[in-house]
Amino acid sequence: MRHTNIFTKTRKESPKDELAKNAQILIKAGFVHKEMAGVYAYMPFGLKVLENIKKIARDEMSKVSGQEMIMASLQKKEIWESTDRWDDKNVDIWFKSQLKNGTDIGFAWSHEEPITEMMKNFIVSYKDLPIYTYQFQTKMRNELRAKSGIMRGREFLMKDLYSYSSSDEEHETFYHNMITAYLSFYKRCGLGDDTYVTVAAGGVFTKNISHEFQTICDAGEDIIYIDRENNIVYNEEAIDASLVDKNKLEKHKTAEVGNIFSFGGEKCERMGLLFMDKDGEKKPVILGSYGIGITRVMGVIVEKYADEKGLVWPKNISPFDIEIVSLFKEEGDNVHKESEKIHNNLKDKYEVLYDDRLMPIVAKMQDADLYGVPLQIIIGEKTLDKDMVQIKNRQNGEVVEVGLMDVEKGLEEMGRGLF
Ligand code: ATP
Ligand code: MG
Repeated sequence: MRHTNIFTKTRKESPKDELAKNAQILIKAGFVHKEMAGVYAYMPFGLKVLENIKKIARDEMSKVSGQEMIMASLQKKEIWESTDRWDDKNVDIWFKSQLKNGTDIGFAWSHEEPITEMMKNFIVSYKDLPIYTYQFQTKMRNELRAKSGIMRGREFLMKDLYSYSSSDEEHETFYHNMITAYLSFYKRCGLGDDTYVTVAAGGVFTKNISHEFQTICDAGEDIIYIDRENNIVYNEEAIDASLVDKNKLEKHKTAEVGNIFSFGGEKCERMGLLFMDKDGEKKPVILGSYGIGITRVMGVIVEKYADEKGLVWPKNISPFDIEIVSLFKEEGDNVHKESEKIHNNLKDKYEVLYDDRLMPIVAKMQDADLYGVPLQIIIGEKTLDKDMVQIKNRQNGEVVEVGLMDVEKGLEEMGRGLF
């Protein structure tokens, strides 16, 4: 991708009206645009990051046989009333509106009820089960406070999967496979070392068991307690409810990057989603729901890895593999010509951002550091006079000089050291 084809620009200063580090840097770098508190738009580079995170999630979900679809954002009141989750007293983050004829409608904050209602069309007997279906969809929640940048949006992207099973055993096997899939997802996003599965209370979802995925992060709004001896992690709610002395445990600030729930047969029974079992008996379907905050994950990655120069992306989710930082002084000079050649050689093998803008050298290098692509090829006059270019590892700052013939070899070697 040629930078001259991109409409976004970097800013010299962080936006004054933004409190969260993640959004400050993302806006400064032109990855994100702030519409209002808790509402963000994703610009071309930001969207590429989101798509990379989605790609990893999609891969993990298809490994557990998830089928992708997409539900509607406008929802029917009656469906949510059937389980007592329409009333603002029970769910306090609803955005609601009305049709012209006065009919109440809700904006999707979650999808258990509409999907369960829809499944009545597809589930008749045990032969139709299990079903695992998921979507990436914008959720809307009227959050009281939205001060954590993209980590707490009033509009945000979630991956949500729903499992419909014919027995508790079948459900439990799947639920455990999902824990494994989630841990693999966070690891591939660069959050593996700091993400913990916690036993949690079910919140507005269910009185049954649920697990949270919590990543250690100073900007997070949650707290976890790690019991290393017994290999158990509690969230604040769960340790209130248990008899464990929390002063003896390791305490960390965390961000909830995922949450999975077992509903048992309760919700499907209430909503009338029954199936005919092998013995001819009608039974409620066992429901599970499994969320990942895709935009929150992106925010947590920014918080954890960004430094004073700007963004630092783990290689799997970086918008590009390589940025070519071409320090040419005028079009057609030697540096410019050599940069064009290097770009042509690499553009089909890697995801490349080629900064082909004519602008001051220092500003261009600052932009590259701000963007945070893990590898930079810096092409400047001095090194080029020796028939060499520099390769920089943005993650640790290491810079090496390589001959023009050895650029790919150099990239490969430097690439091995990336997280
Ligand atoms: P929180 O306690 O942070 O408000 P939640 O428990 O209400 O979150 P869930 O309903 O469990 O959220 O949603 C599943 C996942 O979606 C969460 O684990 C989190 O990663 C993400 N998420 C929830 N609310 C937001 C939000 N306002 N902005 C971004 N991501 C969110
Ligand atoms: Mg939750």
